[in-house]
Amino acid sequence: MTPTEDTNLLKDRVLLITGAGAGIGRAVSLACAARGATVVLLGRELARLNAVYDEIVAAGGPTPAILTLDLSIAGGHECQQVAELIETTFGRLDGLLHNAAVLGDITPLESYDPDVWDFVMKVNLRAPFVLTQALLPLLKRSEDASIVMTSSSVGRRARAFWGAYAISKCGIEGLVQMLSDEIANISNIRVNAINPGATRTGMRASAYPGEDPGSLRTPEEIMSLYLYLLGPDSRGVTGQSFDAQPKPAA
Ligand code: NDP
Repeated sequence: MTPTEDTNLLKDRVLLITGAGAGIGRAVSLACAARGATVVLLGRELARLNAVYDEIVAAGGPTPAILTLDLSIAGGHECQQVAELIETTFGRLDGLLHNAAVLGDITPLESYDPDVWDFVMKVNLRAPFVLTQALLPLLKRSEDASIVMTSSSVGRRARAFWGAYAISKCGIEGLVQMLSDEIANISNIRVNAINPGATRTGMRASAYPGEDPGSLRTPEEIMSLYLYLLGPDSRGVTGQSFDAQPKPAA
């Protein structure tokens, strides 16, 4: 049996997943619940989160929790409330996946709207910072905690026209490196980055409107790396940036 086939892989773990209502976040939530995790579904839209909740319950997974929060306006106070809610409800947190993000504009820097820039940076970079800050005390108390941040190929090397999205993802790579150094002496917490690679979601369709979605992997097809990093098998692995899909041949 591979770790992915193990329906108890994440048994008794409590995981918070941002952007859980759609795309990759939805697939990770379903995949984790199917392996025994209690999933806290965080997102903007209640209806989407409710649909994921219903799917998990219908499949016989542990009862999830829903947290509606707009990460573009979430500050320290709101994130502290998230931490208190999780502590009161579950008394623990074993994993945190920063998955929510927005694309912003794809346009030359010369014409990039500074307000769009700020909005993208808030959702994609500031929110992972403040949420991690608020949740670290809970994560430190877990026997085995994993923080996973979502990067992108343009976070490894920024490309023309990708604007704040690219810069926010470069920031995510740096955040993982910095935090892993800071918590290197806390052996029960690890932090890593995932670049999902081209995946069939709404965001990908917005970024590449001319592309055939059928040519792309679905979120469900890239789950093994997420399960590995959020589960016990990655214990001791920290400060790294992983690709969920093999890189296309050059
Ligand atoms: P989607 O657009 O399909 O999903 C993004 C999720 O983020 C949605 O659930 C959305 O919620 C949530 N979100 C956006 N803004 C906010 C906000 N202000 N507050 C709370 N939640 C918010 O994107 P993907 O699934 O494609 O992307 C998931 C991650 O993977 C992102 O970090 C993305 O950058 C990264 N990625 C994706 C790639 C791809 O090819 N798909 C490639 C490389 C990286 P709502 O449902 O309310 O809109």
